[in-house]
Amino acid sequence: MKTTKNEKKSAAKKNTGLIMVFTGNGKGKTTAAFGQALRAIGQGYKIFILQFMKGRKYGEFIAAEKYLPPLTIRLSGLDSFVMRDNPAAIDIELAQKGLSTARKAIMSGKYDMVVLDEINVALYFNLLKLKDVIDLIKNKPPALDLILTGRYAPKEIIKLADTVSDVQEVKHHYNAGIKERAGIEY
Ligand code: ATP
Ligand code: MG
Repeated sequence: MKTTKNEKKSAAKKNTGLIMVFTGNGKGKTTAAFGQALRAIGQGYKIFILQFMKGRKYGEFIAAEKYLPPLTIRLSGLDSFVMRDNPAAIDIELAQKGLSTARKAIMSGKYDMVVLDEINVALYFNLLKLKDVIDLIKNKPPALDLILTGRYAPKEIIKLADTVSDVQEVKHHYNAGIKERAGIEY
């Protein structure tokens, strides 16, 4: 009997969704999450990505709009810096809205993988409550793969994760005076 694409997919996943965290101070966390998403798209997954604290369309957003219908991306933030000790009310409001959009996507059953990009930084900046994020992780549908990115991953999230990669800076081109560039940074 021929297996359908969906049957193949669920057989491959064996109903065990993973929680993965990409953290650390080196470059490559967000792009790792998008690389994982691309791999999953190839296997027939549907993916939702919420980018916290980002207010502009990075290259990956533009690529998804143009070429990747199985990938839905939402932005939740301003295109400006957030002050850690004194975040603006609008930053908090946007992050909270982002979390609620992500929660709906996670619970909708429409997606096989959800990426919460820079959610660790939103927590570090006190835009979100740790308890809300922990509750969301604990209540996710069992088969859903969940990826959380950003520096400063809290130990409580690291504890819940199945896989944690700590990306460490060995060198960064900014330190040699090379400026940010389309296709590399955004
Ligand atoms: P990328 O989006 O390229 O995968 P990232 O998600 O690991 O990077 P973030 O911590 O989200 O990096 O920082 C966003 C931007 O800051 C990156 O585009 C990047 O080039 C720059 N950056 C990342 N790491 C460093 C570093 N160690 N020193 C200076 N700038 C950095
Ligand atoms: Mg990032």
